[in-house]
Amino acid sequence: MITSLLIANRGEIACRVIRTARAMGVRTVAVYSDADADALHVQEADEAVHIGPSATRESYLVGEKILAAAKATGAEAIHPGYGFLSENAAFAQAVIDAGLVWVGPNPSSITAMGLKDAAKQLMQDAGVPVTPGYMGEQQDADFLGAEAAKIGYPVLIKAVAGGGGKGMRLVDSAAGFADALASCKREAASSFGNDHVLIEKYIASPRHIEVQVFGDSHGNVVHLFERDCSLQRRHQKVIEEAPAPGMDAATREALCAAAVRAAKAVDYVGAGTIEFIADGSGALSADRIWFMEMNTRLQVEHPVTEAITGVDLVEWQLRVASGEPLPLSQHDLTIDGWAMEARLYAEDPAKGFLPSIGRLELLQFGEAEGGRIDTGVYEGAEVSPFYDPMIAKVIAWGDDRDEARERLGEMLQDTAVWPVRTNASFLVKALQHPDFAAGRVDTGLIGRDGEELAQPPVPDADTLRAAASSLVPATIAPGLRLNAPPRRTAWFLLDGEPVEIEVDGGSDEPSTGVLVTEQGQAWLLTPWRRDGAHGAADASGAILAPMPGKVIAVDVAQGQTVTRGQKLLTLEAMKMEHTLTAPFDGTVARLEAAAGQQVQVDALLVQIEEAA
Ligand code: ADP
Ligand code: ADP
Ligand code: MG
Repeated sequence: MITSLLIANRGEIACRVIRTARAMGVRTVAVYSDADADALHVQEADEAVHIGPSATRESYLVGEKILAAAKATGAEAIHPGYGFLSENAAFAQAVIDAGLVWVGPNPSSITAMGLKDAAKQLMQDAGVPVTPGYMGEQQDADFLGAEAAKIGYPVLIKAVAGGGGKGMRLVDSAAGFADALASCKREAASSFGNDHVLIEKYIASPRHIEVQVFGDSHGNVVHLFERDCSLQRRHQKVIEEAPAPGMDAATREALCAAAVRAAKAVDYVGAGTIEFIADGSGALSADRIWFMEMNTRLQVEHPVTEAITGVDLVEWQLRVASGEPLPLSQHDLTIDGWAMEARLYAEDPAKGFLPSIGRLELLQFGEAEGGRIDTGVYEGAEVSPFYDPMIAKVIAWGDDRDEARERLGEMLQDTAVWPVRTNASFLVKALQHPDFAAGRVDTGLIGRDGEELAQPPVPDADTLRAAASSLVPATIAPGLRLNAPPRRTAWFLLDGEPVEIEVDGGSDEPSTGVLVTEQGQAWLLTPWRRDGAHGAADASGAILAPMPGKVIAVDVAQGQTVTRGQKLLTLEAMKMEHTLTAPFDGTVARLEAAAGQQVQVDALLVQIEEAA
């Protein structure tokens, strides 16, 4: 058994690998870029090596730096995670040539499956059904157009070197073919450095079904059943589950046998995934499921397989890489219950799923029986613009599909992240979508109904009233009648937007801001201050603290002339920075604040005297 392991990755997958390695008594070495100096994987590893600037091309994608880090720390083996260098055959070979253990398949298997056209040809020769289409060498536009017509529209043009849902074009008719081909080739050349494409029949009501396979260096290959990853957005997986809804025993048997044949055809060692596309317009049947591609690494969604089989796939990877035989044989492997995973992203569905970067001031995950959170961040950590903005994978298990689905919904609903935006409420709505709930899912569901799913949630009126009531003093409201509950309305700011809320009661010790968390979303509710706002100054030029906090910077000096809008100081309150600015042109008549000072609400910080 190896005794030390370098993880050539970051984020949740690095933490995931470290967890198992540690449990097995294997010493772990992390690598990190500038942006990741304080990252969770760095904290969790026994040792960490800095490998360069934040850009992946200068750090995580530089094989020589990874090898140097392994050498410097005496790491015996390298686990590549997924993405980055995981499917880079040249890097795998370099690891082996350096006398280290590569936790992955033989480089020749990676090469064989690396290009989609060659992989399909190889699979067809091995008797694995492949998606009908053209996968040859000819790349001439007229020739490919004729092939597309032969296959019959709609067709999919795919970059042979593509990945991550990129480099694909769906074409409905001959009229759009030439343009789609040209644009696909352009994208392929710039993203993957290879403009070769293949043409495939576009499968109606497509379902993405994949099989987890595992091989060892003694010639054994088993499968660990299927996963369904049909809930996708722009060809990228959003929610995955195992097993696949509507999969009968005979179809499963045929599909998994085809997957094992595929793995054996490339002498596969380690964890791999065979991806198939299924015609989901009717019941699943083996003659309407075709090989799409093989991912020669651990898959993002591997936890759902672990949840239904009880196998730790990373443990198997480390054992197999150490030369041990597979811990279980095929007939020892069974499916127990149902598992579902959602990819929680720092992104804003209401803004076209734009990444939402920044500090995770609040990070709370929901819990459920049998639940699991795989994350690479912590409260206070930064979501940086350099990498995939995944916050966590949220995984639920249940006796059956509905139980797993409901538990996953609960976990996501109770997730609270702020001020970074997430797709949690989008995921909750997707889980509740009637078609998804019924197990009728195809890869087009989000494309059809995504706009509705992406609508930002609105906090419940009762929740808002309770939150608002904690922000106002319990004074007797005007017009209060005896025997009637004290009711009045007041203005607040909900994430900066003015809202009028009916409050009851009030509080003896009103706070100055509260986070409302609900439906997987968090909003900051603060009292509306009429004196010039959150606020800074009224007409008198008195700059008051809008809430209790700490002065973190003072940008002006006593007597200084300032212009309207000029930054005076920065206050940190409610874990947020508030900039206070000059309300008009004038001079700093009084300066009562110093950096580092704690101030109470309404404390005078600066007095501006208006210019004559
Ligand atoms: P999965 O099927 O596990 O979701 P994907 O193919 O979507 O796998 O990719 C897994 C990870 O690898 C993602 O983080 C994705 O962004 C990254 N990835 C995959 N292929 C590429 C590629 N060709 N270039 C850059 N990143 C890639
Ligand atoms: P990548 O390497 O980017 O993961 P894949 O070949 O695995 O590329 O395809 C990604 C996704 O595109 C699939 O999960 C599926 O949703 C869709 N897709 C791929 N091929 C087809 C097809 N022939 N018909 C319909 N949808 C397809
Ligand atoms: Mg794929």
